[in-house]
Amino acid sequence: MSGTAQVQAQSRAVAAIDDPILVVRDVHKHFGGIKASNGVDLEVGRREIAGLIGPNGSGKSTLFSLVAGTVAPDRGQIRFDGHDIAGRKAYTIARLGLARTFQIPALFDNMTVTENLLAAAAEGQWDGARQRADETLALLHLEAVAGNRASDLSGGQQKLLEFGRVIMRRASLILLDEVTAGVHPNIRKIILEAIARLRKEGTSFFVIEHDMEMVRNVCDRIIVMDSGRVVTSGTFDDIVRNSEVMQTYLGRPQ
Ligand code: ADP
Ligand code: MG
Repeated sequence: MSGTAQVQAQSRAVAAIDDPILVVRDVHKHFGGIKASNGVDLEVGRREIAGLIGPNGSGKSTLFSLVAGTVAPDRGQIRFDGHDIAGRKAYTIARLGLARTFQIPALFDNMTVTENLLAAAAEGQWDGARQRADETLALLHLEAVAGNRASDLSGGQQKLLEFGRVIMRRASLILLDEVTAGVHPNIRKIILEAIARLRKEGTSFFVIEHDMEMVRNVCDRIIVMDSGRVVTSGTFDDIVRNSEVMQTYLGRPQ
């Protein structure tokens, strides 16, 4: 099969996902002359862990911003859990059950770890928040620093807390933007175990990740972006077999 035919076959496989929680169709976003999204088409299945990879500047974080509502698309459709969300406000989309982390954690520096968790629940689901905060502290191994200010945490612990704030919102789809980048292997392991546990409980994940080892171990399916478009998608093995894609992805400096 030629490279192009293979890409087309895989695009059809994407369209065949039944019961998607997220559907993105022909989404465009230009920043001046830069086409950060240039006709993005993709789906994320319910209870799926979908990985998003691609060279620096290929439009991954922009896509997350478009889905989460912090940036409005120029055109195109975005459906989340049956709702049309393209161009809707971020807080509206968050209330529908979508949550994201940022590359740089957005925490309340002067509040304690527990208070940061409770504040996240207050923005979303307050019922049972105290118990959920305790469970989240245990899940993320943050019990020993529960009373510490967020600003006193290590960088890795801040990433854990950012993830904890997302967990507190009881989102049905969680977008993680390079959540394991630059963190200690112990913290990475905690994050990966938490993702596995939440998925078992029914949460879907869409993760931007540079670490191919993590992509291989965690993602059910991988979506590859380049120059504002989805180039292909498939299992890790499908993607590795498609040497053209690997060259696109690995052949450029990150
Ligand atoms: P990635 O996350 O894949 O590295 P981004 O989505 O951050 O890529 O960026 C895609 C392109 O859009 C880049 O060329 C980037 O410089 C540009 N871009 C992203 N956000 C903005 C913005 N707010 N204003 C102008 N250009 C932007
Ligand atoms: Mg990015």
